[in-house]
Amino acid sequence: MRVYKFGGASVKDAQGIANVLRIVAREQGELIVVVSAIGKTTNALERVVNARWEKRDEDAIREYEAIRDQHRTIARELGLDETVVQQLFATNLIADIPLADNYDEFYDQVVATGELNSSMLLSAYLDANGVSNELLSMPHLLLTDETFREARVDTAVSAENVRQAIEQSGAHVFVTQGFIGGTAKGQRTTLGREGSDYTAALLANFVDAESVTIWKDVPGILNADPRLVDNTILIPELSYGEAVELAYSGAQVIHPKSIRPVENKKIPLYVRPFNTPDEQGSVIYETTKRVDVPVYIWRKNQKLITMRAKDFSFILEESLSHIFDIIHRHRLKVSLIQSSAVTISVCVDDTRYVPEAIEELRDAFKVTYNEGLSLLTIRGTSPEILKKEQEHRDILLTQTTRRTARLVVKE
Ligand code: ASP
Ligand code: MG
Repeated sequence: MRVYKFGGASVKDAQGIANVLRIVAREQGELIVVVSAIGKTTNALERVVNARWEKRDEDAIREYEAIRDQHRTIARELGLDETVVQQLFATNLIADIPLADNYDEFYDQVVATGELNSSMLLSAYLDANGVSNELLSMPHLLLTDETFREARVDTAVSAENVRQAIEQSGAHVFVTQGFIGGTAKGQRTTLGREGSDYTAALLANFVDAESVTIWKDVPGILNADPRLVDNTILIPELSYGEAVELAYSGAQVIHPKSIRPVENKKIPLYVRPFNTPDEQGSVIYETTKRVDVPVYIWRKNQKLITMRAKDFSFILEESLSHIFDIIHRHRLKVSLIQSSAVTISVCVDDTRYVPEAIEELRDAFKVTYNEGLSLLTIRGTSPEILKKEQEHRDILLTQTTRRTARLVVKE
C-alpha cells in the first residue's frame, strides 16, 4: 500500500483534478489517496463560520453558496453526473449545522465540509474514469478527543478502524479526507490548519505503507521559499531529524506533525512536483547524510513576549514552569525562547489565543511585547552568511549555534 496526498493547490480546479487522475492511474498497487479541501475553500469556510458566529447570516449564506457553486462548476467541467453535482454542498448551512455554544466546536462542523466535499468529488471523478475506489470517512474512522480545531488522534483505535475498513473492502484504491476526524459522540473535528499531511502520515503508519508521497506545486523540498528567493536549490534527500527541524522552524512544505508517524515505522516520505510527476523531487528517510547547503526558513506572524519579574526575586526554574503552564493551556505555539537574569522572552505564532495568555501572564509578571515580526532560521549558516543577512534588516534578537542562526526581525 502507498499513500498519496494532494493539497488544496493541486485540486484547485478541473485541470488539477484531472491531473490527480493521471497520477493515480499510473499507480499499479494498492493506494490511499488523501485530499485537502479544494483551493482556498478552508479560508472561505472560515469566513462562513465567522459570519454565522457574528449573526451575519446573509453574508454567511452568500459565501457558502459561492463555495457550493464553485464545486458544482468544477464537477460539471469534469463531466460528472448531475446527481453527483447536486450532492456537493447539499447540506443546508443554517438548518443542518446548528450554532454550537463553543466557537471552536462550531468551526469544525462547518470547516470539515471542505474536505468531505472535495473527497466526494474526487472519488466520483476517479470512479467515472476507470479508477474504481472506495471513499473512506475520516470522521468515522479517525477517532479524536474534543479539542476542537486541534484535535488529538487516538492512534490505537483509529489504526484498528482504518485497517478493518480496508480489509473488509475489496477495493484497491481508497479516497479519503485529510485534516479531519471525529469524536466518540459523532462530532467532526479538525487537526489544525494544513493538517492533511499529518493525516497522510498517520494512515501510512496504520497500514504499514511502503511510502507516502506529498504531491506539491514545488519541485520538492527547497533550501528557501521560492516565493521569497530567486535561486533556490532542491534538497534531494534528508533525514527525518533534519525534516522535523525544518518543519518546526516554519518550512511550509511539510507539516511538523507529519514526520513522527512515518519515522516510527521508517516509511520514506516523498515530496514530489504535481505538475511534472516524472521528476523525483525529495525524499525524507532514514539516512545519516546531512544537508550540505544553507537552508533559509521564514516563520511569519510572530509576537515576541518578554516577561520580567515584578520585583527582583526572579527564579528562572520556578518562573519557567509557571510561564509554560500558561502558554500550554492557551495553546500558544512557541518558536524561540531566550532568558536573562531577570527576563524570559518567547517568540510565538500570533494567534487569537495570545491576548488572553498575556492577560494571565500579567498576574505574575511585567509583560511587554513586539508584534509584526518574523523568525528567520538559517540552518548550515556561516559567519559570512549571517553577516549578510543581518545587514539590511531590523533585528530584535539573534540566537546562534555553530550551524544554526535564528533572527527575530521586523516584517
Ligand atoms: N484544508 C486544510 C487547510 O487548508 C487542511 C490542509 O490543506 O492540509 O488548512
Ligand atoms: Mg490547504
